[in-house]
This record gives sequence, structure tokens and C-alpha cells, in this order.
Amino acid sequence: MAWFSKEKKLKTREGKPAGPPPAEGTGVWYQCEACSEVSTRAEFEKAWNVCPRCGQHDALPVRRRLELVLDPGTFEELDAELAPADPLGFSDSRRYRDRLRSTYKATGLRDALVSGTGAIAGQPVSVGVFAFEFMGGSMGSVVGEKVARLFDRATERTIPALVFSSSGGARMQEGIFSLMQMAKTSAAIHRFRAVRKPFVSVLLHPTTGGVAASFAWLGDVVVAEPKALIGFAGPRVIEQTIREKLPPGFQRSEFLLEHGMIDAIVPRHELRDRLAQLLGLLG
Ligand SMILES: [Zn+2]
Repeated sequence: MAWFSKEKKLKTREGKPAGPPPAEGTGVWYQCEACSEVSTRAEFEKAWNVCPRCGQHDALPVRRRLELVLDPGTFEELDAELAPADPLGFSDSRRYRDRLRSTYKATGLRDALVSGTGAIAGQPVSVGVFAFEFMGGSMGSVVGEKVARLFDRATERTIPALVFSSSGGARMQEGIFSLMQMAKTSAAIHRFRAVRKPFVSVLLHPTTGGVAASFAWLGDVVVAEPKALIGFAGPRVIEQTIREKLPPGFQRSEFLLEHGMIDAIVPRHELRDRLAQLLGLLG
């Protein structure tokens, strides 16, 4: 099952192991992994980490994502104090406790979700953004709690909810505690339905495992960025299980749109306007 797959094996694009993205502003040049063309880093960052030559969408750090979609100065981070525990005393190649400590040092994040409130085109929204660089955006107790609180806050304040997901799935180092977050977040959405406000779910590259299989796909509107890998189990696991070759582009945004699994593909430079439009219509 995908949510048990080892974190080490989690791939981002074309066999590159997932890891923290290079620090912003390092180096003058940027070489695109998709088209191999070179552009200046300034040009690339100005385009919100989209390749100016071929339109390849690279990972965008959480803070930049919030800058991209929210009205300037409106973001208020909440639940930032929640930090993960180690309920199982888990250890694989390293102790979970040590892994958490070094990831915190490297990213400055306590866990894989940043959440709070903000506004888009003047409309208040309860918002959360996954940080894939924090243990593959995996959902443990803290991420699950923060997602649930995000929906509870939207329910209390009667405002729309917005989540940007990029995750390898449940956090296997927390065992059953991480799996429980699937039910917990889905239940929070159920409570949120009572206020009849929209939940817009934005699926980023990659959104898989327990996150895709719970709240991320329960959006009233589900949009994705171009060419994002979205699914439950990875293609290799599925091929081994059904013993068939999968069609080209399987589990990518374009394939999913064609098969009615998502509502729209929105390029990053249109994201803010499209979200404002959606919230205006449904909010
Ligand atoms: Zn490119």
C-alpha cells in the first residue's frame, strides 16, 4: 500500500529523490529539469517557479504560495505551535525523533502543513498549504489536527476553506495514528458542510496516498496544477497488482481531467484569479 512505502523511495519527478528544494536565491542560473533550457533564477522566481521556456511547474515554497494567492498582508498563521510527538518510539534507519529534529533545522517548519486565515480578493478564507520538503508532506497527527482545525475554523467563522496539497501520504512513522487522520479530516469536512461554504482543494505535484484518499479529493471543487502526479498508489504498484501496462500520462492532471476525476487544471499564474472567481461564485 502506498502509505506504507518507504519515504526514501518517494520520487518527485523522473526518478529524482524528493528532498528539500534548493534555497531561494542560490545561484544565478536555473536549469529546467523538463526542457534542460537555462534561464536566470530571477526570471524563474519572478514566474513563481515556473520554467519561462516550457511552463514546467516546479515546487513553490509555502511562503511564496501564500504570497501568490492571498491579498498582501492578510495571512495570519495559526496553530504554529503544534509540534509532532513520537507515540510509537519509532525507528527505522534513523529514529523518528532525530528525523523530526533535523527536518525542523533544515526547513524551519514544525510539521508538513502551514495553516491560518487570509483573504483572496477581499474574501476571507481558512487556508492551509502543505510543505513537501517536510518529510514528503506526509500526514501525521499534527498535520491531521491542523487540517481538522482549519475546517473547524471555517465552520465557526462561516468562511470558505482552501487547501493546497502535496503529499506522499500518511506518515508511516506514526503508524495507526497517521491513518486515523484520514477519518478525522474527513469528519471535519462533514461538519463544515453544515455552513454551506465551499471547500476548494488544490492538488499540487505530487498528491498521493492517504492525503489524496481523504480530504484532498473531497473538495467541492478540485483543481490541479499542470502535470501534477495525483493518485493513491504509485503506477509501479498498480502495474504489479493488475499485471497490465498503464496508459501514458496515467495519474497526471491532464489524464485525470479527461476522466472526470478533477474539475480543472489551473496554471500557476492564473491560480489567484481563478480562486477569487470561484470563491466569488460559491462563497
Ligand atoms: Zn523548461
